[in-house]
Amino acid sequence: MTTIIDGKAIAKEIRKEVKIDAISFFEKHGRKPGLSVILVGDDPASCIYVNNKQKACEKAEMNANTIKLPKNTSMDELLDVIDSLNTDKNVDGILVQLPLPEHLNAELVLNRILPEKDVDGFHPINAGQLLQNKAVLEPCTPKGCMELLKRSGISLSGLNAAVIGRSNLVGKPVSMMLLRENATVTICHSKTKDLKAILKNADVVIAAVGKPKLITGDMLKPGAIVLDVGINRLEDGSITGDVEFESASQVASYITPVPGGVGPMTIAMLLKNTMLAAEAQNV
Ligand code: NAP
Repeated sequence: MTTIIDGKAIAKEIRKEVKIDAISFFEKHGRKPGLSVILVGDDPASCIYVNNKQKACEKAEMNANTIKLPKNTSMDELLDVIDSLNTDKNVDGILVQLPLPEHLNAELVLNRILPEKDVDGFHPINAGQLLQNKAVLEPCTPKGCMELLKRSGISLSGLNAAVIGRSNLVGKPVSMMLLRENATVTICHSKTKDLKAILKNADVVIAAVGKPKLITGDMLKPGAIVLDVGINRLEDGSITGDVEFESASQVASYITPVPGGVGPMTIAMLLKNTMLAAEAQNV
C-alpha cells in the first residue's frame, strides 16, 4: 500500500501551531512577530510568491511588511534597506525574494542580512551551523521535507537515502539534515554516472533537480520513500515534479504529489523560522 503524503494538510497543521505561538508572543511582548520581505522589480512569479507569504503571515497572526523596490534599485540602496531592517527591533525576520535583477549581487545581498534575522537560512553562518548540527534557522524547503518525514512517522536511522541535486537551496542542506537523522546519504548530480544503480539501493529518495519526470517507477527500490521537490511547468501550463507520479506511486511506500506535497511546506517553514527568530531575539 502506498501512502500519499498530504503536504497541504501537514502545512496547515504547522501554520496552526505557529499561530498559537505567535499569539503567545504577542501576549508576552505586546507586538506580533514581524517578517519583512523585500521584492526588487515586478517579476510576476515573484509577486505571487511574495503575496502568498504576506497572506500566510497575516493568517498566522504575524506582521508582514512587503517592501517593493523598483527594478533599477542600486546595490547600495538595497543594502541600506537591509541595514535599516537589521536594526529595526520590530523586524524579526528578513527575506529577499529571489531571483534579483541581474545587476544585483545576490550573494552580497543575502550575506548582509543579520544571521539571526535570516529566515531563509541562506547566510553562510546559518549554513555553517547546519553542518555542525547547531542551526536555529535552516533553509525552509529542506526543513519542510524533514518535517513531512517526521510527521509521517518515518524513522530514518540506518536507511540509505539518495538526494538528487546538490544546490545550496535544497540538495546540500537536505543531505545534511538526513545525515543528522542517521541516514546514509548519497548526493547525486548531473555528473553522477549511474543514477539508476544508486536509486535501486535507496530506501529514501529526495528529488530536487528541476527536470520533469526524471525519476520513474522502474528506477526505484520497491517500498522506497519518495519526496519530490521539483516544480516544473509544462507547455500546457500544468505543474509536475521530478518524479513520474503514476509509475513511482506503484512502487513507493510513501510519496509526495506535485502540487500538494513539498511545496506548501516551504511557506509553513518560513512562518516557523520567523517565529523561531522572534523568540531567539526576544528572550
Ligand atoms: P538547481 O539549483 O538548478 O539544482 C539542480 C540540481 O540538479 C543540480 O545540483 C544539478 O546538478 C542536478 N541535476 C541536473 N540534472 C540532473 C540529472 N540528470 N541527474 C541528476 N542530477 C541532476 O535547482 P534547485 O534550486 O535545487 O531546485 C530544484 C527543483 O526544486 C526545481 O524544480 C525547483 O523549482 C524546485 N524547488 C521547489 C521548492 C518548493 O518549495 N517545493 C523550493 C525550491 C526549489 P549539477 O550541480 O551538477 O548541475
